[in-house]
Amino acid sequence: MKTDLLQTPITYLKGVGPNRAQALQSELGITTYNDLLHFFPNRYIDKTRYYKISELERNSAEVQLIGKIVHIKTVEQKRGSRLVARFVDDTGEMELVWFRGHKWIREQLQLNVPYVIFGRTNWFNGLFSMPHPEMELLAAHEQGMRIHMQPIYPSTEKLSNKGITNRVLSNMVQQLFSETGGVYGETLSKDLLDDLKLVSRSEALFNIHFPKDQKKLAKAQFRLKLEELFFVQLQLIAKKLLRKKKIKGLPFEHVGEHFNTFYRDFLPFELTGAQQRVIKEIRADLGSNAQMNRLLQGDVGSGKTIVALMSMLLAIDNGYQSCLMAPTEILANQHFNSLKEVLGDMKINIALLTGSVRKSDRKGIHEALEDGSLHILVGTHAVLEQKVRFKNLGLAIIDEQHRFGVAQRSKLWKKNDIPPHILVMTATPIPRTLAMSLYGDLDISVIDELPPGRKPVKTVHRYDTNRLKVFRFLKDEIKKGRQVYVVYPLIQESQALDYKDLMDGYESISREFPLPDYRISIVHGQMKSEDKDYEMARFVKGETQIMVATTVIEVGVNVPNATVMIIESAERFGLSQLHQLRGRVGRGGEQSYCILMTGHKLSADARTRIETMTRTQDGFEIAEVDLKLRGPGDLMGTQQSGLLNLKIADIVRDNEILKTARYYALRVLQEDPDLVLEKNIPIRHTYAELLRHKNIWNYIS
Ligand code: ADP
Ligand code: MG
Repeated sequence: MKTDLLQTPITYLKGVGPNRAQALQSELGITTYNDLLHFFPNRYIDKTRYYKISELERNSAEVQLIGKIVHIKTVEQKRGSRLVARFVDDTGEMELVWFRGHKWIREQLQLNVPYVIFGRTNWFNGLFSMPHPEMELLAAHEQGMRIHMQPIYPSTEKLSNKGITNRVLSNMVQQLFSETGGVYGETLSKDLLDDLKLVSRSEALFNIHFPKDQKKLAKAQFRLKLEELFFVQLQLIAKKLLRKKKIKGLPFEHVGEHFNTFYRDFLPFELTGAQQRVIKEIRADLGSNAQMNRLLQGDVGSGKTIVALMSMLLAIDNGYQSCLMAPTEILANQHFNSLKEVLGDMKINIALLTGSVRKSDRKGIHEALEDGSLHILVGTHAVLEQKVRFKNLGLAIIDEQHRFGVAQRSKLWKKNDIPPHILVMTATPIPRTLAMSLYGDLDISVIDELPPGRKPVKTVHRYDTNRLKVFRFLKDEIKKGRQVYVVYPLIQESQALDYKDLMDGYESISREFPLPDYRISIVHGQMKSEDKDYEMARFVKGETQIMVATTVIEVGVNVPNATVMIIESAERFGLSQLHQLRGRVGRGGEQSYCILMTGHKLSADARTRIETMTRTQDGFEIAEVDLKLRGPGDLMGTQQSGLLNLKIADIVRDNEILKTARYYALRVLQEDPDLVLEKNIPIRHTYAELLRHKNIWNYIS
């Protein structure tokens, strides 16, 4: 194995001087031979195939054909002229077109002699044409050295400006293979190679750069994708096994008085089957000796809160404290109030800690946490502050996980000697296999059933020009005693502008819905949190009928009497946000509505989003569309998008390979947790190397 050679700085490669090395480093992050070896083409021009004219499709990429020119003419145009050649094979005819240099070309072209042509085709007036084709006489083509599939490397404008073209890059890679001999150490075990019929690593690396044909390329890609995903999964699974083995959990052995009393006397409704199942899963975790690290997925309104509460009651029954964290103050408040309400006169101490809790009140909370008399702490990020110390934190619950970073999760661990059990709740439906790879170290529970009696929210799309009709509809709903939300986008980069939109909207709504018949609340990010809470509280109590807001209400707010959600500039929201917003209505027994307002000009993606929203309410289906539109990075929120730093695999498209990789990673670790078996040596080496370089995403502390 020539590992050392591969660590050679790229500037030593023949043909790469300090200048080019500098450009490769700054533009592509390539500093060593090894980096270049793993710099993969992102597509290939396939010259292994010869198309017939009848096989051409309107969206064909570059194609190669064999045929003859039967006629050439010059066509005069307003600006100069073009040369048009009629090109035929035994299935049809097409045109070859030149806009420049055609005097010279016309002299070269031979009529009625077979040519091989290559290029991109256009479809125009019922005929295919190929502008500026690459051409070669068939006879010469058959004798010459055939380039089979030409790799096209990702590049940047700066690189091409510096003369580092695709050909130069390709030559560098060729040079690399010749200097290193093209033999590279195996990273997978023989078992795996045999089982999955994988090509060797050397062969895969060669064929990813210089494939002879599609089949060889496919094998190389499969092998390299599998390898990449295998090591990601190996790392995640190893972490999980390690945690289960080494990290002792706090044993919540019994189900006691608090849980049982609540279940018997206070539970305001019957649990759905899904809620019962999930509570059982959580109980099993808490009762085992290992620390729980569980992701609870459930669509908006599926009833995650009660699951959280019952888990916290288990903690109390076993003498431990819990905390429940929410991403916004509004939501923390709401959790606090609704928990207090359902707990009724049960003897449970519960407090709220957010940024706006007064210092004097904080002191009391801190003390009660430290002497153990406080059972449940509900709050925002404020809970994570170092000053906040628990006597014995047993369970930490994070609601709406996508707003919390990983670093925050790890802070919770440090609140105790023995880490608390952790339950992460999210309403972002993530396709299961994707969740597995993103949160491979978490266990997953899913609430896949809504409480009974929910009516689907009628969702429609309306153009801004129909606003008056929409307002009339609102008046009817308000007359029936219902409440409505009107939501405006607020996107960081254009905050000032968005703020103006919101205020303009508020004004026009105030004009249309005047006092004393109508009362309006407004909540936005630039308000003091007391004012926000005050406005929110008025709406919750039904004192106001209209809530004009930015997306602060996106997460979790629960007002069952609200039946209409109007989303302004709906084209500017992402699908998961739209879905979340819609989830704010349809929470009571009444028919609810979601109205998506847009202008007439919509991008194709925006149309797809709106069409998806009006078509379905299934969170998982919406998530799939979202995934296709945006890719997994965005799905998880920008702060996490860099985490899936994959070179070749695509977590969405290569989902099947991912499953295979996961299966084998699990199998290897189950048989050989410490990778000590002789046959697993290549895996152990690679794994150690990856950890050393933190090459794979280093996800969870
Ligand atoms: P989410 O999963 O979005 O956090 P919530 O926990 O806020 O959902 O629950 C949404 C609403 O459904 C609440 O008003 C809650 O009281 C109610 N709910 C939850 N579970 C049930 C159930 N099993 N039967 C009836 N209503 C329920
Ligand atoms: Mg919730």
